[in-house]
Amino acid sequence: MRELVVISGKGGTGKTSIAASLAVLAGRCVIADCDVDAADLHLVLAPTIRRREEFRSGHEAIIRQPDCISCGACVTYCRYDAILQCTGGNDAAAPRGSHSACRGCDLCQRACALRTNEIMREMWQASGQGGPPVFVIDPLACEGCGVCVHFCPVHAIDFVERTCGEWFVSDTRCGPLVHARLGTAAENSGKLVSLIRQNARKLAEEQGIERVLIDGSPGIGCPVIASITGAALTLVVTEPTPSGLHDLTRVGELTRHFGVPTLVCINKWDINPDVSQTIDAHAAEAGMTVAGRIRYDAAVTQAQIQGKAVVEHTATGCVEDLHALWAAIDPLWSAAAPNGHAPSSPCTAPTTEPDRA
Ligand code: SF4
Ligand code: SF4
Repeated sequence: MRELVVISGKGGTGKTSIAASLAVLAGRCVIADCDVDAADLHLVLAPTIRRREEFRSGHEAIIRQPDCISCGACVTYCRYDAILQCTGGNDAAAPRGSHSACRGCDLCQRACALRTNEIMREMWQASGQGGPPVFVIDPLACEGCGVCVHFCPVHAIDFVERTCGEWFVSDTRCGPLVHARLGTAAENSGKLVSLIRQNARKLAEEQGIERVLIDGSPGIGCPVIASITGAALTLVVTEPTPSGLHDLTRVGELTRHFGVPTLVCINKWDINPDVSQTIDAHAAEAGMTVAGRIRYDAAVTQAQIQGKAVVEHTATGCVEDLHALWAAIDPLWSAAAPNGHAPSSPCTAPTTEPDRA
């Protein structure tokens, strides 16, 4: 099995548009959308979902309100200000020093840690200051460190696995697609990328499909490392701008560090032919092969509006360049060494800076 991963130094270079056209030109292959932080390949490939699974990663703390004695210890210990006091009128349960009457001596907290919540509630009622405050944990602010769980004197905080999104196996006109939707503000996208890749590989093995085309993550962080490690070939999509050249350098260092053969495609090369020429020279120096140049063409936007790959929308202009790109990639993809072993989790991948030697 051979994975081709389409990546870029940053978002917005046209990576996904090119990946969609390659998916059409490649014929039957397994497709994986590993750009999970901004997944949009499904907008072009119009998948029919066959399987849907929850993606769980990390933990979050949740207070069981009936068991909470409103001591406020969790607020004191949370370094991320993730625990909020919603209602109530007693100073002892508020963040230390935030009310004028409370001197923050903690005596009540230490004493009451040994008592039952019934006793605490009687004390609150006897105080004549209304009911106890209610503490809730903001799920977006909680980092899942577990400190509040450890220090809660009555063990009133659950520590549950966090649901971060969903992943899917779908059918498309180009072949099976494995893709995902990460929840709002959800993290651990590198772990989700590994999960998507593992399932795409498994699907390819089950169906006897030799090629897996991956729309990888942009940048050089954990998700892109999870996208490329062990792949047979990468295609870096770049633009002819100074930042495009800089990003290509960084991505090239990363792919070299992981020993993945690297092709380059200059998208919209004609908006700055001089920088395109510089990119050609730089790629050659860095051991990367420029597999193609694609001209600027408004047909790309028109195709996107119609939910098509541009090679399905027209046969001229940039599509001629895409066919030439495919003609260069196809034999290299077939001849590439089969995949190595991708890590089961990005946590097993090196996290140091790429080798700059
Ligand atoms: S798990 Fe950590 S971050 Fe989350 S509320 Fe508890 S102490 Fe704060
Ligand atoms: S430490 Fe436990 S009992 Fe005290 S306020 Fe927090 S959740 Fe409630």
